[in-house]
Amino acid sequence: MSHYYVDPDIMRTERVFPMQGRYGAYRFDMNENPEGLPKGFVESVLQEVTPEFLAIYPEPDRFQHKYAEFIGAKDENVLATNGTDMAIRYLLETFGERGKSVVTVSPSFEMYRINCSILGLKHVAVTYEDDLTIDIEKIVSAIDTDTRIVVLLNPNNPIGNTYTEEELERVLRRADSVGAIVIIDEAYHYFYPNTFLRYALSHKNVVVLRTFSKLFSLAACRLGVIISDPEIIHYVKNAKLSFDVNSIALLFGERILDHPELIKDLIQREAEGKRYLLSTLRKNGYECRDCAGNYVFVKPRNPAKEVAARLEKEKRVLVHPYGNPLLKDYIRISTGSKQAMDIFLETFWDIDKNN
Ligand code: PMP
Repeated sequence: MSHYYVDPDIMRTERVFPMQGRYGAYRFDMNENPEGLPKGFVESVLQEVTPEFLAIYPEPDRFQHKYAEFIGAKDENVLATNGTDMAIRYLLETFGERGKSVVTVSPSFEMYRINCSILGLKHVAVTYEDDLTIDIEKIVSAIDTDTRIVVLLNPNNPIGNTYTEEELERVLRRADSVGAIVIIDEAYHYFYPNTFLRYALSHKNVVVLRTFSKLFSLAACRLGVIISDPEIIHYVKNAKLSFDVNSIALLFGERILDHPELIKDLIQREAEGKRYLLSTLRKNGYECRDCAGNYVFVKPRNPAKEVAARLEKEKRVLVHPYGNPLLKDYIRISTGSKQAMDIFLETFWDIDKNN
């Protein structure tokens, strides 16, 4: 026991941080873009990073204005955050109530559960069925008068399912009836074109989250966006740090929005690579799961954990295996261009030979 005060919820929280030393490896483990943005584009944006630029505190308004225009919303609907990571913390801090519940699904993106633990919120997770479908009925009935926040990832990560409009509306009706807010995490928008943005712009209690870490390939910069009703944005602004998003992130974000042809190209390259990966694996007799994000599951012939460990050790190829019983036979592979997928496939054939 320490001799100083530690918040008991933070003391109890156990963290496992992502692995380091991934530079130079072939990265198919964290749903980044394995190749990143075109080099010429990155170099041209860096030209704008002058001593004056670095000396001035970040000014997010211009990016937020551009982003609002980009999605057809008003400036008051949009708030930039230090990655969606920070957006999740702000939202749970602002709209969560100690001891009351946050309804999500499991398995899902871990930071929802971890932030509940840190903030003393009750994490209520609806588990996927054995066939990796989710029963919307179970989500609806997990929402009760203790629920302050409901979280839907559309598509979910790691299980790449999506929700229909009808399913979302059932959840919304139930959330409305108990006064809960609904967060729709669209980190994987662009890989999956449908969006529930219109709900965030027309309902008082719906939030959509977007990130620049996935299709926009800026995971290092940390740039996320909260889109919601101006009143929700106002309360989150009360909670936020003065300068959480840095100027380099804002600059890169703006320049990406200035280049719709770049966005189109990124979408096309990933879609082509993913189609190629799935068809090649299936042609070779592998069972695959086509997720709606920039990732797929494949069931190797050899034990999944072993294959992942050997890919890392022998080939410097990083993929994601799972301890969760629903996913333990699979590895998750983040998708990228056809060339990136060829790098994965060549090493995978070599490691996952028939015994
Ligand atoms: N939401 C989901 C569903 C994710 O999968 C991730 C990252 N894997 C995030 C949020 C966090 O993204 P960011 O880099 O913007 O913090």
